Amino acid sequence: ILQPDQPPELTGDSPDLFSKFDDLIAMRQGLLDTGIEDPFNLVMEKVLSPTRAICNGRETILLGTYNYMGMTFDPDVIEAGKQALADFGAGTTGSRVLNGTYQGHRECEDALREFYAMDHAMVFSTGYQANLGIISTIAGKGDYVILDIDSHASIWDGCAMGNAEVVPFKHNDVEALEKRLKRIPAGAGKLVVLEGVYSMLGDVAPLKEMVRICKENGAMVLVDEAHSMGFIGEHGRGVCEDQGIIDDVDFIIGTFSKSVGTVGGFCVSNHPKFEIMRLVCRPYVFTASLPPSVVATAATSIRKLMHGSNKRAHLWENSRNLHAGLRELGFTLGTPEAQSAIIAVIMPDLEKGATMWEALLKEGLYVNLARPPATPANMTLLRCSLCAEHSEQEVATILTMFERAGKAVGII
Ligand code: PMP
Repeated sequence: ILQPDQPPELTGDSPDLFSKFDDLIAMRQGLLDTGIEDPFNLVMEKVLSPTRAICNGRETILLGTYNYMGMTFDPDVIEAGKQALADFGAGTTGSRVLNGTYQGHRECEDALREFYAMDHAMVFSTGYQANLGIISTIAGKGDYVILDIDSHASIWDGCAMGNAEVVPFKHNDVEALEKRLKRIPAGAGKLVVLEGVYSMLGDVAPLKEMVRICKENGAMVLVDEAHSMGFIGEHGRGVCEDQGIIDDVDFIIGTFSKSVGTVGGFCVSNHPKFEIMRLVCRPYVFTASLPPSVVATAATSIRKLMHGSNKRAHLWENSRNLHAGLRELGFTLGTPEAQSAIIAVIMPDLEKGATMWEALLKEGLYVNLARPPATPANMTLLRCSLCAEHSEQEVATILTMFERAGKAVGII
């Protein structure tokens, strides 16, 4: 009988396929051996509201969720989910192209078309699958995908799945994008993939200049607005709306797992042939559709976000107050000013980052610890994401927690 920590015996020269993870296993063990709490294994024992949960038996302020607009506990959203659960059951047990399209999926796509004022909307089971599906389906072998080097994993995976030629360019660098575009062979299919807000540092892309260059060079443009939908732009449509270029982009990708407050992903487009995607996009076809309760909560939330300007204004205040307060305390931040609802605090290394993370948790504050490979330039970050439901008082309390923890750990 094998001991749990004993690798299985292998015949011949075959390596243990897990040996490629040895460095990571050793690094993780090294961190845990210092006696620190595992930052990647925290349990929310009870969730009290969009901004409060019980963690380790203690009430904790949540500053590391993607619940930007606080929709998870909206009474109308919860009621819509309960009603759909009662009327349509727990799940669809099928693909959108077979038995998995219910009235609710249609209503959710109607809500998205209205939210973005676009002709077509397609709902996926996650945002990850939306990027995977759209990118891999429109950019195939022989086509080129030109993408920001700091793009989300789902974008890279979409490129790999479609087998397109991948041409990365320096983060948010307009000239680098133009240079790369000009080098693509004449006549080749070109898709440029950008994000509105980059999730690690919370910085915004110069979409206006970038989209102009894409059009001048005959490239189609896809923008992932995962972290800007619901918050940025007059109607919350994202950075494309804010920079006045929403009608110039070919595809917008988004998710229900952030401002919308549930789970799911989508693509909206005005392309006249867009509907064919429903038949050819494998991550749409070969998976079960979202449960009726999920699409009902999403549709209700999206419709409410259309009228969320007061919440958007309060979220901007929270973000600016936290950014200014942290800077005054002496922390190093990812952006010179608040550009989104994400404020990234840069840590000197992983060990200090994990110690600070734990000190904050003991204060009663949860933030995200982010480390390579998810982060750019090998940075360790304490990523703070604000919610429209954080009160002004809560932001002040958060700052005192950062001050005490930062002094105790010796970061400020
Ligand atoms: N795009 C970006 C930029 C993201 O940050 C994420 C998730 N963090 C996704 C896509 C995937 O979204 P989902 O959680 O719906 O899979």
